[in-house]
Amino acid sequence: MPELPDVEVFRRYCARTSLKKKISHVSDVDGQILETSESTLRRHLLDNEFRATARHGKYLFLEISDGYQLVLHFGMTGHPEYFSKEAPEYTRLAFQFGKGGLAYVCPRRLGNVFIAESIESFVEQKGLGPDVLELKKNEFVEILENTSGMAKTALMNQGKMAGIGNIYSDEILYQAGVHPERQVQSMSGDGLQNLFNVTGRVLETAIRHHAEPEEFPERYLNYDRSEGRKCSICSGEIKKKKVGGRPSYFCPRHQKKQ
Ligand SMILES: [Zn+2]
Repeated sequence: MPELPDVEVFRRYCARTSLKKKISHVSDVDGQILETSESTLRRHLLDNEFRATARHGKYLFLEISDGYQLVLHFGMTGHPEYFSKEAPEYTRLAFQFGKGGLAYVCPRRLGNVFIAESIESFVEQKGLGPDVLELKKNEFVEILENTSGMAKTALMNQGKMAGIGNIYSDEILYQAGVHPERQVQSMSGDGLQNLFNVTGRVLETAIRHHAEPEEFPERYLNYDRSEGRKCSICSGEIKKKKVGGRPSYFCPRHQKKQ
């Protein structure tokens, strides 16, 4: 599922390909992914253009020239794709620019498309916490000091901080040497500050490598997300276990539970 680094890569892609181009048609509309009516969608988009991009957590915002926001969430498998002739397979919504267009591609139809009055109103309506990369160290520490439960679950709680999902929570905890089941309340101030530093580093590194795990440094867990392989940090072995209902990978040797 696209998480913060993936969506940031999508944002930059849309900014590069799809701004300031008049939308002449809205096509390939699949009602299943729409969180607004098709007529509302057309009213906001036809003959307008995208003029800016933004991201909050796992949501991508394309600012429409009428002041509203087109909001894209990518479900398990979605991504935006610029096309020069025909919209690609599994397109669930396409914006035609006359020459070329931007497609919202979503094979499993688990994504969602919204129209919002503003980013702030959308974030509030969805009950999202601040974007993780916008947090300062003291804010990050304070949020976790006021969160109970396991470290992995806390990092993934979108209402506390938005952007981290199953893949990157594993990576952050692996790099920080924290067991995914460790109770957040048992972590020291230094431990939480270190977690903040590692979180920023992991997310920025992933973005720099286009959120493609095969391009990640070899010491990264997700460079080779598989059970039984040798840990790249110590001599332990990677284990797989459900944590908070999600399949999690970690090294029980260097990731400390307390
Ligand atoms: Zn290890």
